[in-house]
Amino acid sequence: MKIDTVINEITPYYKDLRRHLHSMPEIGFKEYKTANFIIQELERLGVEYQKGVGGTGIVAWIKNGTSERSIALRSDMDALYIQERNNFAYASKNPGLMHACGHDGHMAIMLGAIEAIATQKAELDGTVYFIFQPAEEGLGGAKAMVEDGLFERFKIDKIFGIHNRPTEPYGKIFIKEGTMMASYDNYQIEILGKSTHSSMPHTGKNPIVAAAHIVAAMKSITSLDLSPNAKSVVTVASIHGGEADNIIPDNCIIRGSIRAFEKEVRKAIETRVKEIATHMAQGFGMEAKIEYHTGYPATVNTDIQSALQAAVATVGESNTITDFTPSYGSEDFSYFLEQKPGCYAWLGSGKSEEQPMTLHSSSFDFNDDIIPIGVRYYYEIAKRELGIQNSDFAI
Ligand SMILES: [Zn+2]
Ligand SMILES: [Zn+2]
Repeated sequence: MKIDTVINEITPYYKDLRRHLHSMPEIGFKEYKTANFIIQELERLGVEYQKGVGGTGIVAWIKNGTSERSIALRSDMDALYIQERNNFAYASKNPGLMHACGHDGHMAIMLGAIEAIATQKAELDGTVYFIFQPAEEGLGGAKAMVEDGLFERFKIDKIFGIHNRPTEPYGKIFIKEGTMMASYDNYQIEILGKSTHSSMPHTGKNPIVAAAHIVAAMKSITSLDLSPNAKSVVTVASIHGGEADNIIPDNCIIRGSIRAFEKEVRKAIETRVKEIATHMAQGFGMEAKIEYHTGYPATVNTDIQSALQAAVATVGESNTITDFTPSYGSEDFSYFLEQKPGCYAWLGSGKSEEQPMTLHSSSFDFNDDIIPIGVRYYYEIAKRELGIQNSDFAI
């Protein structure tokens, strides 16, 4: 059967499946029912798989021919701690949890891609791996899979992923060589002062004054310490100290996050944050206790050729966007791209240009109309990477 017909026929099933997944959101590393549901589907499709990779992660595969070539496609699985405000029939049945980032849709696309690619298996010479990854939302499920031997247990040459993007128009695919998304780190600086009566400031150490100077100095990092071309965001997001108007408190805590596109810039900011906090506090006769947490690396695409061709084949040249600003958001697909060549793309899913829905909103809903686009895009990548030469499957 031709791929167009296959995708048309299977799409309604995967739209329903997406809605079912939407109703049963689970938080990162606890996607137990989600994983069981995926396993049921893999068994229905007769596809081999290994469960429990990096916790609740699953790796499935379709192999044909004798070639050692292989690629992997990836879907995330987890939901968020958000109380859903939608009240349609398939809204979250788990209070306080919601699929507000569209990972329900990514799983539907992936299962659809497995079914579609399986129908064209005879034209394949190599292995397609399908990675269902837990805990994308801040917990680093990709890293857990890498540390659980993903690339040792499965011989994967290249890796590809997509994420829906409701703030971009429906049906456009965004692919860029190099950096797509920023790295993400966060910090906590606790300034250790000395509490006293506010009428006798000289008998204590006021950590709030030191904190104010630290915050002001941190805001100069991007303008004074980095090249004007370095792209980064240094955020101070929270400051807490003191309870009353006549008491100097013992401590003051500053918290925030750092985003950068380049490793060198990321490192330089970390160094400056630590220096400023340490020395500024010392200047006021106090000590700064710093906790600096290194989060997701920048997402850097290193092999975009077949992804680009697949996008053009799926949505046409005019809908394949390559000239755009990378996002300051971050993504743990970056851990895979640190290990293997590959490409992470955005799939525009906007329903309305006037009022675009945003990811992580309590009224978000995945746009099911992009399911066949995602399936086709993955199929086109497999065809380009693993198609038998001189067959219809190959380009
Ligand atoms: Zn997401
Ligand atoms: Zn998200």
